[in-house]
This record gives sequence, C-alpha cells and structure tokens, in this order.
Amino acid sequence: MPELLKVTNLTKNFPVEKNILDVLLAGRKRNFIHAVDDVSFSIREGEVLGLAGESGSGKSTTGRLILRLLEPTGGSVYYRGKDMISIRRKEMEALRSKIQIVFQDPNSSLSPRMSVGEAIEHPLKIHNMGTKGERKEKVLDLMEKIGLTPASFLYRKYPHQLSGGQSQRVVLARALITSPDFIVADEPIAMADVSVRALILELMKKLKAEFNLTYLFITHDLATAKYLCDRVAIMYLGRIVEIGTKDELFGNPHHPYTKALLAAVPVPDPKRRRIEEMPKGEIPSAMEPPSGCHFHPRCLRAMLKCSKKKPGMREVSPGHFSACFLDE
Ligand code: SF4
Repeated sequence: MPELLKVTNLTKNFPVEKNILDVLLAGRKRNFIHAVDDVSFSIREGEVLGLAGESGSGKSTTGRLILRLLEPTGGSVYYRGKDMISIRRKEMEALRSKIQIVFQDPNSSLSPRMSVGEAIEHPLKIHNMGTKGERKEKVLDLMEKIGLTPASFLYRKYPHQLSGGQSQRVVLARALITSPDFIVADEPIAMADVSVRALILELMKKLKAEFNLTYLFITHDLATAKYLCDRVAIMYLGRIVEIGTKDELFGNPHHPYTKALLAAVPVPDPKRRRIEEMPKGEIPSAMEPPSGCHFHPRCLRAMLKCSKKKPGMREVSPGHFSACFLDE
C-alpha cells in the first residue's frame, strides 16, 4: 500500500509562561515543556497505526500537530506527498475535509445548541458542499449507516437527549460526513461506558472497511490497540521508544518500557504478571526530561551510558524498531 502520511523529526516545545518575578529578573532562563521530541513514523493507506503510552507521553499533541491544530517547533509532516507544515492556512482548511479528528469526550466536542442533524451537517457547510437538501439527505444516509437509527427521529435530538454510545456515534458521523480518508482518533472510547466501548471499536473497524479509511489511533489502553491496530508505536516522554507490527510488539517486545506497559495489563492469572518488569516511580515532568534515555531513572536495566546518551532506533526484526542500548 502507498504511504499516506510521513512524519519526520516532529518536535513541539511549549514555552512556560513567565510570572511577574521572572519578567523583572530579566535574563532568567526560559522554560519549555518538551511535549514531542523528534518523533518519526509513517502510515500506509488503509493502515491503523496505534500511538500508545501513559498520559503525558505526547501522543495527543502529536495528533494535533499532524492536523496543524498546533504549530510544530520543528520537523515535517507529509500527507500524500504534500508538505503540511509549510502550506498556507487556506490550503490547509481545504485539506481538512480529507483529514479529520475524533476527540475523546463527545460531550465537550458537541455544541449543546446544535441538534444531531446540524452537528453532523456542520462540516459540509464549512466546506461549501452540496445544497441544503443534498446535505440533509447525506446526513440521514450516514446516520443510518452508523447506527443512529431511526435517523429521522434522532436528527432533531440534542446532545443531552442522547446516550453515551449515541453521542460517540454522532462525533464519528461528523468526522466522516466530508468523506475523509484519514482519521486521527484521539482516545475515542476513553469516556465511553464499558458496555459501549466494544460496540464503538467494532463500528470503527466496520467503517474503516466500508469507507477505506486510515486511522492514527491514540490510546493509553494496549488491549484496544491490540484489537484495532495493524502496527503500534509506544511513546514515552515525547519520544517513540518502540514501533512494530501488532504481532511483533505484543509477541516479542524489546524495549523495557514496552515490557513494563505489557506487564501492567491486568490478566486473570496473577502468576502470569511479571512484577519484576514494573518501572520505578512515576513519569517525570516533560519540563525537565531526564538526560540520555528519558526512561533511565525508572528502568530496571539502566546502565551508566543510559543517562549520558540518547539511544537511537535500531531494527530488531524486519519492520520492528526499538530505541534501547540493550539492542545494540
Ligand atoms: Fe533502559 Fe538504558 Fe534501554 Fe533506556 S537505553 S530503556 S535506560 S536499558
């Protein structure tokens, strides 16, 4: 399959606002939050790439940088060979019909003043697509396909009148109405009840096949990444530390952090948990990330050089890369 998206050395540093004392004491060093640090990956057409890691690992910021909802500090993003960072805003707006995002919380991403029909139709209006009648027909048709039925009844409902599962379907329908080919799904089931999570994941799989979609699936939950993704990238403190096919990553993990995340996934048999793999302490602040390998203060296998040098990505098996000195 041809490459749809290529991200190279993507970086985002957020300046930390100075307080009045810092302003008065001119010359005091400016602080930055290093949210995304030299991230590179590509996604082929029709593929689902999972971006997984703890909160604060930079996965959601990476998604927003790809859509240029945030401006990167450095690096490049190419979509179908088009340089997304240097194109003008107007051109980017036009491209947005092809690249959509689904946010984590449907309640905060749907306006309480817009009915279901208006919310789903909204992107068509923004992109000047179709007449009023054509737009309504398209919305009702998509609502049927996505399981928002009876469509003509739900069309006039408002977000507070919907169940959690229905709200998430409205958000998905709104993302799909402009016929995109690439969706950034940012923790799309994190706020859903357990009972509707499986249904939403199943629906995303079905929609991918029906609309020939490519997903960047952002999640902190490895179990859902395993279910939906073809390949998975593990992020830690702004960097990708391991990336590979789902089978390789879950069957043959290399990076100590990936092993720790996998060990933390609950299993019914307590004897199968690899307690010795669990990392020490908590994820450090992205304002002052540890030197060398960011994971070294928590890594049970850290060596002297781990705090001095950043480990590069090494191919540990075809298409499977890990950034750890243990793989040298
Ligand atoms: Fe642990 Fe060193 Fe590998 Fe980092 S490079 S994960 S600190 S062994």
